[in-house]
Amino acid sequence: MDVRKYSGIKIRDMILSGEVKVEEVVNAYLKRIEETEGKIDALLYINKHEAIEIARDMDKNGPDPSKKLWGIPIVIKDVLTTKGIPSTCASKMLENFIPFYDAEVVRRIKEQGGIIIAKSNMDEFAMGSSTENSAFKPTKNPWDLDRVPGGSSGGSAASTAASQSPISIGTDTGGSIRQPAAFCGVIGLKPTYGRVSRFGLIAYGSSLDQAGPITRTVKDAALMLSVIAGKDKKDSTSSPNPVPDYLQEMEKYKDLKSIKIGLPKEYWQEGLDPDIQKKSEEFFRLLKELGAELIEISLPHTKYAVATYYIIVMAEASSNLARYDGVRYGYRTKDAEELIDMYVKTRSEGFGFEVQRRIILGTYVLSAGYYDAYYKKAAQVRRLIRQDFLDAFSNCDVILTPVSPTLPFKLKEKIHDPLTMYLADIFTTPLNLSGLPGISIPVGLGDNLKLPVGLQFIAPPFREDILLGIADRVEGELDPLPEPFGLKS
Ligand code: GLN
Repeated sequence: MDVRKYSGIKIRDMILSGEVKVEEVVNAYLKRIEETEGKIDALLYINKHEAIEIARDMDKNGPDPSKKLWGIPIVIKDVLTTKGIPSTCASKMLENFIPFYDAEVVRRIKEQGGIIIAKSNMDEFAMGSSTENSAFKPTKNPWDLDRVPGGSSGGSAASTAASQSPISIGTDTGGSIRQPAAFCGVIGLKPTYGRVSRFGLIAYGSSLDQAGPITRTVKDAALMLSVIAGKDKKDSTSSPNPVPDYLQEMEKYKDLKSIKIGLPKEYWQEGLDPDIQKKSEEFFRLLKELGAELIEISLPHTKYAVATYYIIVMAEASSNLARYDGVRYGYRTKDAEELIDMYVKTRSEGFGFEVQRRIILGTYVLSAGYYDAYYKKAAQVRRLIRQDFLDAFSNCDVILTPVSPTLPFKLKEKIHDPLTMYLADIFTTPLNLSGLPGISIPVGLGDNLKLPVGLQFIAPPFREDILLGIADRVEGELDPLPEPFGLKS
């Protein structure tokens, strides 16, 4: 069975019709992992034995068509807790942490018959844009093994691009689903804040974090969102809004003739990579041919987004990461003389460099005397950024932007220049600050570098249905991407 050919939906159909057994499916993906993992280093843990055992049980009891993910292998970012399986956040701090409970996202996946086949690599505690901040290993981009897969969900995106599973889960605090999806040529959906429960999502920036699917087809993303979305009493910020059947609901938005697409002039400026510019122009032409109306809009506070995001996210991170003190769980230093010494050594040894930088900066912006100047100001600007979007949506249905100003960059190219790395988050962070949903879709390979180009559609809160409908339509019009070049031979 050549797993590269199949979407998650197709796999489930084949199992339900009796064409394949769940065990065959799981074995085929494990084999694919074996063939590709040495090249891309996308995974931190392969759940081989449990996955095979579950598959056998499922085959014994016969297919259950009421389960939406029956038999589909799924890769989970290591920031989500998985019962009995290491959940490390790619940090030394949690290297030996085996949670005794599933994140709500994971629980829902299992409830629908999805099989957790592996945990994926990431930037430590989801802090980064290249997966180079993993304490264990950098992941490589399947299109070019000398380049980064993006981050922080680079393991999930690279894994899905390499068909190690049809579907993976990432999390997005400032772009970490959409940017790696764009870099690896797959689909990444960041849902509206509150659409998906954060219970068991190890916190980075609690007011920004959101889990979502990374897939190779838009329909798989729609299916996944229907499974993981919805109110959870264990997360008070999860929304009670009813969850539609996205696969059905999105059909309403596939006719682009009645759709008005806003192009924010602050996003479409000089400085974009020429490959991205060129592919985007071709994509605009396609949208017009399909009948969509493209209009220029303005999001005037865009220029403050990166600064605002980094102040808020570092403040929240410094507070969230205070729990790793060497006392309750996680890493503890071997040689401490007294309590304070134990805290200091535990945290200095357990956290990587980027995490420590953010804790220090986050503590600084929250400190008495600076709180008003930095944190409070950032919280105010955040409101203005959100208001820009809400105003824009009175003139258009969705907004279209680049995901990243650059194509996947070389490993080590930016890792010693944090400011350049942060600035690359310019097009993704505004959505997290505003709580809005966004989808990143591949629109082709660049003419010069032959690397995937991803673009982002943004919708009003809770309108993932429109995003999915439009994305599904254009996916049908675009040429499918070939197999990632780095995996050949
Ligand atoms: N690159 C951003 C950061 O480093 C976003 C990360 C994320 O979305 N988890 O914070």
